[in-house]
Amino acid sequence: MSYTVSRTFTALVALSTLLSPNVAGGSVHGATAEWPLHGNTEQATGYSPLDQISRATIRRLGLAWSLDLATDRGQEATPIMVGGVLYTISAYDVVRAVDARNGTLLWRFDPEVRAASARSCCGPVSRGVAVANGRVFLGALDGRLIALDARDGHMLWQTQTIDADNPLVENYSITGAPRVAKDLVIIGNGGAEFGARGYVGAYEAATGKLVWRFYTVPGKPGMRDNAASDGALAKIRHSWAGEWWKWGGGGTVWDAIVYDPELDLLYIGTGNGSPWNYGRRSNGKGDNLFLSSIVALRPETGEYVWHFQETPGESWDYTASQNIILADLDIGGRTRKVLMQAPKNGFFYVLDRATGAFISAAPYVPQNWAKSIDSASGRPTIDPAARFYATGQAHVQRPSSGGGHNWPPMAFSPKTKLVYIPAQDVAMPYAAADEPIVHGAYSSGVAISGGGAMSKAAWQALYADMHAWLIAWDPVKQRAAWKREMAAPFNGGILATGGGLIFQGNAERKLVAYDERNGKPLWSFDAHTGIVAPPITYRLDGVQYIAVMAGWGGGWPLTGGIMALKAGNAVGPNRLLVFRLDGKAALPADPPRPNPPLDPPPIEGSRASADAGDRLYGRYCLRCHGSGAVSAGAYPDLRKTGFLAGPGFQEIVLGGVLVNEGMPRFTGKLSAAEVENIRHYLIRRANEDRAADAEKR
Ligand code: CA
Repeated sequence: MSYTVSRTFTALVALSTLLSPNVAGGSVHGATAEWPLHGNTEQATGYSPLDQISRATIRRLGLAWSLDLATDRGQEATPIMVGGVLYTISAYDVVRAVDARNGTLLWRFDPEVRAASARSCCGPVSRGVAVANGRVFLGALDGRLIALDARDGHMLWQTQTIDADNPLVENYSITGAPRVAKDLVIIGNGGAEFGARGYVGAYEAATGKLVWRFYTVPGKPGMRDNAASDGALAKIRHSWAGEWWKWGGGGTVWDAIVYDPELDLLYIGTGNGSPWNYGRRSNGKGDNLFLSSIVALRPETGEYVWHFQETPGESWDYTASQNIILADLDIGGRTRKVLMQAPKNGFFYVLDRATGAFISAAPYVPQNWAKSIDSASGRPTIDPAARFYATGQAHVQRPSSGGGHNWPPMAFSPKTKLVYIPAQDVAMPYAAADEPIVHGAYSSGVAISGGGAMSKAAWQALYADMHAWLIAWDPVKQRAAWKREMAAPFNGGILATGGGLIFQGNAERKLVAYDERNGKPLWSFDAHTGIVAPPITYRLDGVQYIAVMAGWGGGWPLTGGIMALKAGNAVGPNRLLVFRLDGKAALPADPPRPNPPLDPPPIEGSRASADAGDRLYGRYCLRCHGSGAVSAGAYPDLRKTGFLAGPGFQEIVLGGVLVNEGMPRFTGKLSAAEVENIRHYLIRRANEDRAADAEKR
């Protein structure tokens, strides 16, 4: 651990942090309006009533200042602004406190998680910190929950949230933002692509002591958890079959957590099955509760209150961990206290949040996995063709595992009563993979390439038919009020404001402000990088600011290939960007990006060795270094590395010589012979592409 405190830090800022009421919203007309919670308000809307920056003034919006984050590995955090200080978290969980007026760095805390990088499916990212009562809370990639003193960033306590005796301990990670409910800090985890049993835990804010834990799926029969979930899981154990516990079963709570003070309920959104393949996981039997569900718990005890499952028998990575928004909506002549979610499965759900009762659902993007949704229960009738694990046939399905909507948060404007969704339509073939499901490596039991069933032409047709939209969704009528087509899939989270504006960053390296009435773009800024994080807004000394963590990253962007075709290379210098009216700052010119030539050593090893390396690359390397060994840009392109010949490759992969640069060591996961297989594969890929380049010339 290391932390540094800037000399410019003042006691005044510290005092204002401590005295901050830390309640939702702040005053619209006062000199100060904070962004105190992950979604700003207690309803987690991602909306601010601030209106100094408006449709009328937007042309004057300019960069006030920027802070370089010294990385290009991706930014997903929602900053928190409390007491004039922005608290935010960057790649590898580096936390910074920054003067929100001028960008002066007050302190920096590095939990040093680079060695744990192999645990993350989707980049070393974090979705944010929580700030309450003078403490800053972060979840670290290696599973620690950490509390810092908001005044100077020194560590107050740390708690390892993953038990050392959990047989899947190495497969868990944390990328989600902690949430605070009363005196408790709530955090879940990720890892269902590697083998994990999901749970969420509550820890004393003052000490880090575990208060309760709720497992989202049952454990091995005969084993007792002595957890808050014991009673609820005993009742739903019959919804599982087979030997799911060997792979954990999944249901990880990696993002969506909302505390509702009005009803005193804690809502969690759970993830996909582990492994994905429902035939392998549960013999294709049972609903597999509480996968792909929203579950309501009592915040003090973790006691189960209700659940609603969106995707029974989940087999397609259809998480219900996308952000949850609370609202009071007039439906059928009465005001309903609802909860809204646009999960990966492509349907927009409205539930009664007091009871979990289903109100309505409708597809917000094209989908072909469900024939219908029962209007009374909300239960889908699944198209038999989607059951690839049973049919033995690949199914070209929409949404893909990337979802109609992924983690970049949607926002709800209480003014327009519309939900603004960063949505996409990308089809993907699913087929059962017969290879063994192994711990500690990307291992879903699903061949997302369709198991070789797709021709190159069929792939090209899929690529040509990708779409993405900013959708303004009417949750009462369950239909789009308007849609704005985007250039490429996977765009940023949303901020909606009282100024009539919708802010969103995108894959085209732009931050854009749209008119809330029709989606017309009114303003844009060249961010020098793709943006996936949601912007926030706040007011200080009467001045409204817009802030966003700019940096291209996360699961899909990193795997390259599919995205690169439409978006080009969206990787660029990662920065915290802050805007105000009449801001006059400019971004520095980008440093030149090294682009070494494709100059591989001659083919080595047998065809069988390279084929084995291809499979190993898919499990261990692809999630960062890109599909087909073509990097999306944030990580080295391994076809071009100078270490393909000679012993250097083994020293990096097994010797760990680049651990401090974020390249984990794979000792215990890969043997020297397997690393050699991967090296042979990379040399072959590089030679294939060099030959193809030569043909073009
Ligand atoms: Ca997943």
